[in-house]
Amino acid sequence: MDKITRRKFVTGAATVAAGGAMLPSFAYGAAGNRSPNPMKIERIEAFPVRYPTVMPFRFLEGPAGGGRPAVLVKITADDGSVGWGESVPVPRWSYETLEAATIAIEKYLSPILTGRDPFDLKGVHEVMDREIAPSFTTGMPITKAGIDIALHDLMGKVTGRNLAELWGRTTGDDLVLSWTLQTPNLEDLDPLIDEGLEQGFEHFNVKVAPDRDFDLAMVRHVKKRVPDGFLWADANGHYTLADALWAAPRLADEGVPVLEQPIPISQISGYQRLVRQQALPILVDEGMVSPGQVFEFIKLGCCDGVAMKPSRTGGLVSARQQIEMLESAGLLFLGSGLTDPDVSLAASLILYSAFGLKYPAALNGPQFLGESIITEPFRPEKGRVRVPKGPGLGVTVDEEKLKDLVKRSRSES
Ligand SMILES: [Mg+2]
Repeated sequence: MDKITRRKFVTGAATVAAGGAMLPSFAYGAAGNRSPNPMKIERIEAFPVRYPTVMPFRFLEGPAGGGRPAVLVKITADDGSVGWGESVPVPRWSYETLEAATIAIEKYLSPILTGRDPFDLKGVHEVMDREIAPSFTTGMPITKAGIDIALHDLMGKVTGRNLAELWGRTTGDDLVLSWTLQTPNLEDLDPLIDEGLEQGFEHFNVKVAPDRDFDLAMVRHVKKRVPDGFLWADANGHYTLADALWAAPRLADEGVPVLEQPIPISQISGYQRLVRQQALPILVDEGMVSPGQVFEFIKLGCCDGVAMKPSRTGGLVSARQQIEMLESAGLLFLGSGLTDPDVSLAASLILYSAFGLKYPAALNGPQFLGESIITEPFRPEKGRVRVPKGPGLGVTVDEEKLKDLVKRSRSES
């Protein structure tokens, strides 16, 4: 595993800062992503579900019911072609909810997208952003990602090309994953580590903050158990600036290679101080949504990289643009997720593999979720998971399984 040093990123960030105020130009897809025949979106359907979980995870709890909420999105074109997407709202991560995402798709996005060319991704995003407007950044990005992913799948299915091929890229056969550790008790740590090791995982990501002393004890223990693993620390924005400045050099001394989202994203000057501290590469996550926002953060020296997630960024178009920007700035792209199930997971796997992700992906859907609605569920082996091949997302939704999960999710909530 490459060792990451803060210094590597400084030069790249400076280049972008000197490059002017304009967002770099972006190609929506490789040449030739055209429908063989003119076609229109005929129907958009939303299927709200709650995937049962197999391990507790603090983000997936709440008053509206358990499980991992998701909205499966089915887009049918007027020639009968179908694409599947998935919106994955979790209000404890970001303000979107299962109910709001479902209604936004059915009542706000479906009417304005019906009749449009499904291959016109630029136009689709423009009208979605007009109908559900941005505030500081893209409005309801997780909801919109479900539409974006479904259109990519549809384009791939129609042209017989995998997503990566739509971008003029190729993928590897599998991706290395990391195992997520989150517990408020040190005595619970060993069984969680053991479970990851037993399943063949070699790399671990830990949820830290707000208790900085606990965090140091935790990473010290994990490092003792797994000395060679990539130990990625994510604070989910829960440190104060003072605690983050205290923790970063100490986490670095314990062997942590990156610190993700130490403080809330709106604390811009705080991010500048953490980056200037140069203790650890600072990654951003929650609240970092649009490419324009990433561009501003890079220019202002607020981050050394981004923990990418197509779900959080409003879909694959935005995520791809951000990765290209980070690459050209010499900054870091790590691959993570929102405990993505099935369809959303397939999109992330293809994206990360197509863009040559260098570090273990924190895609922990298979770790936490106990059910699947695709015909060949993703099952990691030896800490790796296959990258789906075949047209579009390379997965097939089993509509009977989906119907059944929709029904059970309704009766349980
Ligand atoms: Mg994160």
